[in-house]
Amino acid sequence: MILKRDELLAPRTSYRIGGRAEYFFIPERMEEVSQAMSYCRAKGIDLRVLGGGTNLLVRDEGCRAVLSLERFKHTDCFGPFAKAEAGASFPAFVKKLADNSCQGAEALCGIPGTVGGALLMNAGGHYGEIGEFVKRVKVVEPDGRMVTLERDQCGFRYRDSDLGGRIILAADFEFPEGNREEIRNRMREIFAKKKSSQPLHSHSAGCVFKNPPGAAAGRMIDECGFKGTRIGGAAVSTVHANFLTNDQDASAADMLELINRIRGQVRERHGVDLQLEIKVW
Ligand SMILES: Cc1cc2nc3c(=O)[nH]c(=O)nc-3n(C[C@H](O)[C@H](O)[C@H](O)COP(=O)(O)OP(=O)(O)OC[C@H]3O[C@@H](n4cnc5c(N)ncnc54)[C@H](O)[C@@H]3O)c2cc1C
Repeated sequence: MILKRDELLAPRTSYRIGGRAEYFFIPERMEEVSQAMSYCRAKGIDLRVLGGGTNLLVRDEGCRAVLSLERFKHTDCFGPFAKAEAGASFPAFVKKLADNSCQGAEALCGIPGTVGGALLMNAGGHYGEIGEFVKRVKVVEPDGRMVTLERDQCGFRYRDSDLGGRIILAADFEFPEGNREEIRNRMREIFAKKKSSQPLHSHSAGCVFKNPPGAAAGRMIDECGFKGTRIGGAAVSTVHANFLTNDQDASAADMLELINRIRGQVRERHGVDLQLEIKVW
């Protein structure tokens, strides 16, 4: 196991924001995940799991202990069946699925991060979500036991699951078999749509707020006149109002202030309490 001290977290997140982790664990064998957990439990320290850091705002003061599964990146696809370890790149896994004619992969394109983060968040969009294709997920429970959960034990729902509090190690998937060329074409179409409607080259964490039932958070924020609004280095994207970007060395405090201001005005104008999609550490 590699244990780093005072590891800077900002470069490990897509926002490029955040303080340091006092302990940063990089297990090299699966059993070491439970060891890191029991070490932290014994010291009374909260252990957080970092994937690609693409849905994450780390506070300026950082946090005590973080574990990365970056050494567990293996993926495999055989016909409609696939396996992936949690630290694998999600976009690379999705490409492999498409190459293997796995129908549904097209809906998952353009989502950065890791397989572990995608499972915890039930990542997806208008056209589908990863949870639909899960067979089982291997996790470490908070008490250190390694268990396998069947899909219906994972509680997949809109940008959420019941996997929180556990450490996701790997998962098995099954996809309907499709036509490879059709899947690739559809993927290109969906990606082109995203490229034209989202600031994909800015430092962001994707959509900050979940869409309330039957409504679009981005539209509500836009209707409050927020596009282009800035606090310190944090700004509301002019392309998509639900994307907040760090374009001038924003602090987490800048970003949180902008988030709170947006929440307040949306509550006032639309009577809706926006819920965060991103995780704040
Ligand atoms: C430009 C851009 C576009 C995006 N578009 C989309 C989109 O279309 N659809 C969508 O759903 N999301 C989108 N996102 C958000 C983000 O990419 C997804 O939520 C992604 O699945 C997060 O994965 P990650 O590995 O980066 O997770 P992280 O940000 O590292 O972590 C997110 C949460 O997952 C937990 N986690 C990560 N790995 C594990 C693990 N192995 N075990 C337990 N918990 C874990 C973390 O503790 C944290 O709570 C976008 C983000 C960006 C920057």
